[in-house]
Amino acid sequence: MKKIFLALTLATTSFSLVAASDTALPDTARLQAMLTRFVPVEITADVSALPPRERQALKKLVEAARIMDTLYLRQVWTGNESLLQDLRGSETPLGLARYRYFMINKGPWSRLDQNVAFIPGVPAKPEAGSFYPANTTKTQVEEWLQHLPDTDSLQARSYFTTIRRGPEGRFLAIPYSIEYHGELARASALLRDASRLTTQPALKAYLEKRAEAFLSNNYYESDVAWMKLDASIEPTLGPYETYEDEWFGYKAAFEAFVGLRDEAETVKLSTLSSALQDIENHLPVAPQYRNTKLGALAPIRVVNAVIASGDANHPVYPFAFNLPNDERVIKDHGTKRVMLKNIQEAKFTQILVPVSQAVLTAADQGSVSFDAFFTHILMHELMHGLGPQAITLDGRATTVRQELKNLYTAIEEAKADIAGLWALQYLTDKGVIAKGSEGAMYTTFLATSLRTIRFGITEAHGRASALQVNFLLDHGAIKKEIDSTFSVDQARIREGVTALTREILTIEARGDYAKAKDLLARLAIVRPDVKRVLDRLTGVPVDIEPRFTTAEELAR
Ligand code: ZN
Repeated sequence: MKKIFLALTLATTSFSLVAASDTALPDTARLQAMLTRFVPVEITADVSALPPRERQALKKLVEAARIMDTLYLRQVWTGNESLLQDLRGSETPLGLARYRYFMINKGPWSRLDQNVAFIPGVPAKPEAGSFYPANTTKTQVEEWLQHLPDTDSLQARSYFTTIRRGPEGRFLAIPYSIEYHGELARASALLRDASRLTTQPALKAYLEKRAEAFLSNNYYESDVAWMKLDASIEPTLGPYETYEDEWFGYKAAFEAFVGLRDEAETVKLSTLSSALQDIENHLPVAPQYRNTKLGALAPIRVVNAVIASGDANHPVYPFAFNLPNDERVIKDHGTKRVMLKNIQEAKFTQILVPVSQAVLTAADQGSVSFDAFFTHILMHELMHGLGPQAITLDGRATTVRQELKNLYTAIEEAKADIAGLWALQYLTDKGVIAKGSEGAMYTTFLATSLRTIRFGITEAHGRASALQVNFLLDHGAIKKEIDSTFSVDQARIREGVTALTREILTIEARGDYAKAKDLLARLAIVRPDVKRVLDRLTGVPVDIEPRFTTAEELAR
């Protein structure tokens, strides 16, 4: 999972309006109901600080990003492009609703409703997109793959080839650079134009190398250049995720994110990053469990999205991503995380604020803030690098992940959350973070945690949130009010956060599977009190429907 969308979006399953067995096409009213789950939002980014040449380069990148949309539509289903042409012509209420919902879903199937079709005359959503030949079964491709010599097998399983039938009906691997030659040649030319316009060397290098990759089908060098990229414009364009290939997960779908670096958040991030060893040295855990020398951090960039397209622009909309996916690049250079601040802010305003109004007391609602929310997300990401990782048990070298096995992700997510809160309080006490925002930090955390539990507790983030909320309730750090809402006890919350941080870090340091299992069994559950308040959330939107207005203005 490279795209990160869970923490800000409501559970999709519990919101399905269409049962899997119900195959009747939605009429206008039902389509409208499906659409109201998405709240339209204008996504803007401030381009005023960009010099004219950089702004021109950005415009070229927006054009190139739109090409990724075309390619993605075709990869999802070969019929998508002509269907879209037909839909564009209609002006009836039903036609307009279908067009809008098609644009959201990037096809005629509702992604939040088990891909049920909402337009007449279309087949079921193809499991393997258009990556494999029509009228071919998974078994046929599987058999072919099994009998290929190594070099051919590499090509056949590549992220960047489609499988087609040759003259005698035999399967062939076709490089994307040939399959999608027309569009990729245009995208390549646009990236070259942009590389000539920008004066930022690292950006120039990435754009030149990616322009070359579109034509050569060799993406390695451009992925490496992307890892080194740190510029005012942060573009990511190409084939990346393999979710659309539900047969094998081999074939990468096209997408683009083009963002502008958020300078204020970048400064905040570097302040937090430079405090990490100090935080580690003071973690509330036995001193022998602290890491006296932290390793290098994976890079994090905070940007405001100008445009997202293709596989990066359909429900559930991602608000951060980790790339690249190519294991060769990861082995040599690691991965980079890009956080889309303005997308997070849109989801915060449209989803988390209404959630907080339903689940928190009036007093606590007032202090929920985006700044507190975003700062905690940054700290959460950083905290994954702190605390026990490689550990020694009875002289045996191992890792926390290996010891906690299936429980690891839930425990580790809870650690990043709760130790992140602890760390922000520590930095506030030291004056690294200005005093006065602690109240907002805890109430915003409570609203986020309650909302995350809505995902259900089968998933790591949901389990982690339930564990934290229930632990803090049992410690009197969170209170349940008579009207069923929740509030933070500001006098007791620090103590509760510290106690849970200690407990989780100790479990990790000892690789204590039995304790982890016990903790999760007792606390990673949805208690009736919590369920009652979550049941009030039916009217809250499921996701945003972004409209990239800065990109539209640039294109004009
Ligand atoms: Zn995490």
